[in-house]
Amino acid sequence: MIPYGRQDVNLDDIDAVVDVLRSDWLTQGPLVPKFEQLIADYCGVPKAIAVNSATSALHLACLALGLGPGDLGWTTPNSFVASANCIRYCGANVDFVDIDPNTLNISVSSLRQKLVKQRSKGPLPKVLVVVHFSGRSCDMEAIHSLSKEFNFRIIEDASHAIGAKYKNFNIGGCQYSDLTVFSFHPVKIITTGEGGMIVGRDQELMRRIELLRSHGITRDQSEMTGISEGPWYYQQIDLGYNYRMTDMQAALGISQLSRINEILNKRLILANRYSELLSDLPLRLPCLDIFSSWHLYCITVDQIERRKDLFIKMRSANIGVNVHYIPIHMQPYYQRLGFRSGDFPNAEHYYKGAITLPLYPFLTFSEQDYISETLRKNLS
Ligand SMILES: *Cc1c(COP(=O)(O)O)cnc(C)c1O
Repeated sequence: MIPYGRQDVNLDDIDAVVDVLRSDWLTQGPLVPKFEQLIADYCGVPKAIAVNSATSALHLACLALGLGPGDLGWTTPNSFVASANCIRYCGANVDFVDIDPNTLNISVSSLRQKLVKQRSKGPLPKVLVVVHFSGRSCDMEAIHSLSKEFNFRIIEDASHAIGAKYKNFNIGGCQYSDLTVFSFHPVKIITTGEGGMIVGRDQELMRRIELLRSHGITRDQSEMTGISEGPWYYQQIDLGYNYRMTDMQAALGISQLSRINEILNKRLILANRYSELLSDLPLRLPCLDIFSSWHLYCITVDQIERRKDLFIKMRSANIGVNVHYIPIHMQPYYQRLGFRSGDFPNAEHYYKGAITLPLYPFLTFSEQDYISETLRKNLS
């Protein structure tokens, strides 16, 4: 089966991880801070904090922004469930904003309308989690200006989007948001096995995230109540978690990051090639307008009733197509919270026709030709 996504791990990556296994530090060693600094530099921000997944990163980002019971957090239904779950972890209520059918990202006009409506009926959202779907940036400048008007904070869920650009800057610069989160799951752009990262510019927010990543424990006298009892002493000053990344993971991440441009370039070439190969088929193809990291190449079939049959035929031709995403509000957990089919029609309509084609750095042109020919055969 040609998978829909796959990690690209080379001999240098393997050597880097094995070196850590022979070293003194499997975790809490020197490579996590090194990886953090490299990611911070890559994004052009002062600080990055590594964690054990993007899900943990989203949780800590929400906590650091003060989200709690009684608060409201908004996100997009066209994402992985973690983009909404992070809000629920904090005990806050979730609501969604429908997508723009062209970009498949959160619709800025729907966001504005919903904010205006919400202002008249009760609490505005405290936090908005935006998702750069498939690696294509949301309209951050417009979202940022709404955040000033309606007083909410912004987390960028850039799980798909390390290396993508917005206005010629790498995603993660946080020019238009409070915090940005990356995922290093194996299907994403670069991997650490499991892993995530939070980047930001606000020193106080970042310190709070660092504290919560590791049990809420500090060894810094200036953060303690009372005085230190000796060199062994630490204090737990908040209720934190163990969301740390290991040095083995950081070693893999450092090695992967060193060839991110090569990885992004391969994805870009393959995405453009799909768009050429498929241009005459009865499909809607992704827009190619801005610099995407091409985590996913998602198409929609013009006749949505043919999606299921096409999906099954592709799978039986050993092509590991997938679907991104089942709208989050359609999941039974969210239905129990009161969401209904029809609540976010653009996300629901997109989902009904959606198919994700295989895309990863070493997908070959001949595999891609086979995928394209199989689509053609089954659509004619
Ligand atoms: C993969 C993904 C996550 C979760 O990432 P993990 O590192 O697996 O926790 C969150 N949001 C989006 C949009 C994702 O694609």
